[in-house]
This record gives sequence, C-alpha cells and structure tokens, in this order.
Amino acid sequence: MFVLLNDEFVNRNECLIDIEDRANQFGDGVYEVIRVYDGEFFLLHDHLKRLIYSLEEAKINYDIHHHNLADQLQKLVEMNNFKDGGIYLQISRGASPRSHPFPKHTQPTLIAYPIPVTRPLESQEKGIEAILHEDLRWLRCDIKSLNLLGNVMAKQSALDAGAKEAILYRDYNHVTEGSSTNVFIVKDGVVKTHPANHYILNGITRLYLFYLAELLNIPIVEEVYSIEELKNADEVFISSTTSEVISVIKIDDVQINNGKPGPIAQKFLQAFFKHKNIKHLS
Ligand code: PLP
Repeated sequence: MFVLLNDEFVNRNECLIDIEDRANQFGDGVYEVIRVYDGEFFLLHDHLKRLIYSLEEAKINYDIHHHNLADQLQKLVEMNNFKDGGIYLQISRGASPRSHPFPKHTQPTLIAYPIPVTRPLESQEKGIEAILHEDLRWLRCDIKSLNLLGNVMAKQSALDAGAKEAILYRDYNHVTEGSSTNVFIVKDGVVKTHPANHYILNGITRLYLFYLAELLNIPIVEEVYSIEELKNADEVFISSTTSEVISVIKIDDVQINNGKPGPIAQKFLQAFFKHKNIKHLS
C-alpha cells in the first residue's frame, strides 16, 4: 500500500513518523475521511474545504493548494488502484520535543492512505439501535480534531450495550450528534437536526442531505431538540461518510417507528446514489 507522507508516496512499512510528532503526544492535528466509490472521490472539494476550516481554527499552518493536495490524493487513489473505500488523511502540527506551546519552526506532518469501508447495507435495511450518552467532549466539536477520546468512549459504551451508535446530549434539552455521525429527527414530515455550530461537526453527508432535501422537497430545519423530542420522533436517522444514511429504530428502551426504518430516511438513501455525481456542494 502506498501512503502519501508529506509530498512523497512511500510504502506503508517505510512511512516513518517521529515519536515526538504532536499527533501522538497531544492529538494536535486534524483529519478527514473521504469516500471513494468506483475509483472516484465523493465530495472531495467539500472535505478539503472543511479541512481548511479545521486547519485555520487549529492554527496549523498548512496550505493545501500550495501542496496540490487534491491532485496528490487523486494520484494516491490511482497508485493504489483503489476502487471502493475511504481515504484517511491527517495533518498534525509536526514533530517537536514535547512541550505544550506551538513549536516555532516545525513543519506539519501529513499522512493519507486508503482504508477499507464497506457499505452498511444490513444496517440500512434493518435500522440500528442506539444508546443515549452524555456528550463529554470539548466545546470545539466543529473542528475535525484528532482528539477523539470522548467519541471513542461513547461509541464503545454503545457497543457494550449491544447497540451501534451513541447519541450524545449536553443536557436533557440539548441533543447534539452521534459519536461519529450527525443525527436527524422527523416529526410530522419535518426533518430537524442540530445547527452547525461549535457543538457538532458539520458533516459533509449532513450538508449533502440538505442539498437532497431541497431536491426532494423535504422540509428541513436546523434547531436544537430535546431527548423528549428525540424519543417521540416519527423517525430518527444518522448520517456520515461511512454510514451514508441509517435509520435508528431503538434508543435505549424506546422503539422508534415501531422498530422499522422510516420512509424519509429511505427517500434520502435512494436519492443519495441518484445524485452522487455532484462535484461539490458549495
Ligand atoms: N459527527 C462526528 C462526531 C463525526 O466524527 C462524523 C464523521 O466522522 C460526522 C459527524 C459525520 O461527518 P461526515 O458526514 O463528514 O462524515
């Protein structure tokens, strides 16, 4: 497997990263997971736009245009003859003797490589169960940061409870998102999802669903909702690059839509592939 390491393509076992890279010590970096379907990137430019946002907010000085990142990623896919899956990409602040302040003369470290992703067809067909979990993360969830301990711990709690996703809340009146997904509820035909602010990651799939909602004439609003609304929703579904769209049919002990995937999620899913040749959303 070829890995893009800074501006070079190297074999995986030759990809040397310093032990004092700040990704290791501090999780001091940002990342993206970009889907590849049939050898083609899906919404690459939207992912790169969000990457620029994360870099700027984290004050990591890496100019993706100067490094021709879009072309390099295309080349990475071709060199690996990669057809279906994801490209994982991370940029850390670079390697420097361990010390909290930003190092002065350090160059960021970029790695990108293919990862296996298979379509979650069974989950899409049957729906999944989720648990509610307190959102114990920091307050800059809009940055796609490498610090994922809060997400990882919430996801594991879901799996330990026999569920597949943890739906996070700050307090009873404030459901935010999933441990690795955005969450949508439907009531009386209207879709509601958390506003894109510092409490959630503004998912690229989430943005794609806004685009599809317009095409499908499905009303969609960005509003904070409560645990009560979540549990009483006609439908609940999640979205992400790897999940696409998946219905949630049970949350803790409460069944949603009688334990069946709902019609709006199904509409989004059908439209998802019909319109996926769109080059970029914004
Ligand atoms: N929210 C969180 C916390 C995530 O980790 C992810 C994806 O990894 C998402 C939402 C969905 O984002 P996207 O649709 O860009 O994959």
